[in-house]
Amino acid sequence: MIRILGHAALILLLTLLTQTGGIAWAAALFFRRRLMVFAIGYTALWAAAYSLSPRTPLPCFGAPLRLQSALYCALNRHYVTPELASVAADAARQMAASHPGTITLALDGSFPFLNGMPMIPHLSHDDGEKLDLAFYYTDAQGAYLPGKTRSPLGYFAFEMMPPEACPQNMLTLRWNLGWLQPLLPDRPLDGQRTAALIRHLAADARVGKVFVEPPLAASLGLSDPKIRFQGCRAARHDDHIHFQL
Ligand SMILES: [Zn+2]
Repeated sequence: MIRILGHAALILLLTLLTQTGGIAWAAALFFRRRLMVFAIGYTALWAAAYSLSPRTPLPCFGAPLRLQSALYCALNRHYVTPELASVAADAARQMAASHPGTITLALDGSFPFLNGMPMIPHLSHDDGEKLDLAFYYTDAQGAYLPGKTRSPLGYFAFEMMPPEACPQNMLTLRWNLGWLQPLLPDRPLDGQRTAALIRHLAADARVGKVFVEPPLAASLGLSDPKIRFQGCRAARHDDHIHFQL
């Protein structure tokens, strides 16, 4: 019984993390060499998603736009609608034109299939029409660091800690991760590049909303009706940019 529950939990976890991974583990249970069958099944489903998904996979490598880590690609989290893919590519091209050498890093997009399946911890990333982008950072001397973020996956290196704008005692996906902050390298935000990217996104007629924490937007000199606060129950947006169609 415990083994069945363990496998069910693993299938659920793999599905929540990667969408197709749970199917690969469920299929592997019918074989003796489970890990090998899982690896083959996972790879086959991953490759099949590239051709079968109605969404566009963002580039895992290259410039001026790529995923922050190949892990996002390996986990199927880099799919967006063709329109959003073209918004992201245009913004990255504009950044590379106005600030030569700039590499724009994408974080979570959506899974390859289905509308309405959220990508934890982002409840809204469920239809390919939302994408997170990393901030740009500099070294201690203020020189831009191409392709680098402060935290290993681009998330959770918060710029505005403290004070905290939201009450702490409620059910929330607004994780502050105070323990993590002192462990992250000291890489100042490249405010000029980050503000320019947010301006490009807000100026694109195809973009509906850009989420940035309001004090951060104010400190970057940004004001545009499309630049909004996501509310206290959603993830913080002073560590990355979220935009949607
Ligand atoms: Zn987002």
